[in-house]
Amino acid sequence: MPYPSAGRRLRRRLFGSSALLLALVQLSACAEPPANRAVHAAPMLATATPAARPAVEPLASPAAMPRSFSQWREDFRRIALAAGIGADTFERAFAGISPDPAVIRADSSQPEFARPVWEYLDSAVSPQRVVKGQQLLDEHAATLGAIERRYGVERHTLVAVWGMESNFGSNMGNMNVIRSLATLAHEGRRPQFAQDQLLAALSILEHGDVQPQRMLGSWAGAMGQTQFIPTTYQRHAVDFDGDGRRDIWDSTADALASTANYLRASGWQPGQSWGMEVRLPQGFDYALADPDTRKTVGEWLQLGIRPLAENAQVEAAHMQSATLLLPAGHLGPAFLVQDNFRTILKYNNSTAYALAISLLGERFSGGGQVLAGWPRGERPLSRSERIELQERLAQRGFDPGTPDGIIGANTRRAVRASQQQLGWPADGYPNHRLLEQLRQQP
Ligand code: CA
Repeated sequence: MPYPSAGRRLRRRLFGSSALLLALVQLSACAEPPANRAVHAAPMLATATPAARPAVEPLASPAAMPRSFSQWREDFRRIALAAGIGADTFERAFAGISPDPAVIRADSSQPEFARPVWEYLDSAVSPQRVVKGQQLLDEHAATLGAIERRYGVERHTLVAVWGMESNFGSNMGNMNVIRSLATLAHEGRRPQFAQDQLLAALSILEHGDVQPQRMLGSWAGAMGQTQFIPTTYQRHAVDFDGDGRRDIWDSTADALASTANYLRASGWQPGQSWGMEVRLPQGFDYALADPDTRKTVGEWLQLGIRPLAENAQVEAAHMQSATLLLPAGHLGPAFLVQDNFRTILKYNNSTAYALAISLLGERFSGGGQVLAGWPRGERPLSRSERIELQERLAQRGFDPGTPDGIIGANTRRAVRASQQQLGWPADGYPNHRLLEQLRQQP
């Protein structure tokens, strides 16, 4: 989503460990590994319309006495049936279901280290993925053309999302979604959220779109080739092949069209670019590189910013809104990113992810090379180092927010203020140099 502020990001109901990593990705050049479905799926946990939550209370409460899974199941069954789920559907879905310890482990993990954004992009936009995507663009040309005509979302982006979400349908996650969500509703860190997703999953089964044993996905409940969580599925999945079922698991047409429908509903602007790599003029004020600072492409050009490559989109984009993105701080590449980039963030609220989709989509037709060099010698701060940085910033009178290792808008502002005080480039990017400086100050 266009998440101009961390405050808005934090209002999204994400599972904690994933929210942590995502916040890192946003601003500290750390990135979730694409192979890690648990982390990768998490952005889909955000719902498009938070107001649409069912008005039922969570069954689990961290403060309450632990309740057995079977007792929880009995209580939840009453809620599900009251919400309109048929008893048959409930019994079929819950047949043989027990809690899954692997789900709890994933839900409670807080990774100490994260990959730098350049390593994430190296694997996300790999030569093999580009070749596979090009083959699939040919193979599904007719379907993709029909989807473009109906939804106005261009095919390279759709195939890039498909490649990133499930490696083109080959890695959808093989965990039983009902079991995962039941585990999380019973004893996860966000029981209300998991319960809402579980009710949505049951209503999908009730509708007959998929059989319970085929409803597979990630530990967090992201399902199928599009990695939709159940509430996103309910709002945005479509039956494009016309067989009467919205099948994002086994119908490529349904999966690609559902992705297009979701992107369009999230604000996709037909015919617009995601953005472009740019170079900044000497003496540029890096404080302007902030998700909250929007200007038209024309205004950015007036500040001396120039596209790095020959770019036919610049003229067309002159009046379009853009923000300046420095995914690795002022020592790395710079990008002007426009509305469609922000739309991709609704699929997965990570700038590294949105950059991977944008570059992969361009790579299918021969573009998408990042021309400036990444600071590959730099290592992103670890979680404990980020917490230490936040604590030291607070000790010096800055306001980085709760020392939780999450680099959100508050921490970014505090980093920037500290950099300005030191007379350093104020890119708001936390690195070892700043941490070392803060350690040495009395
Ligand atoms: Ca279908």
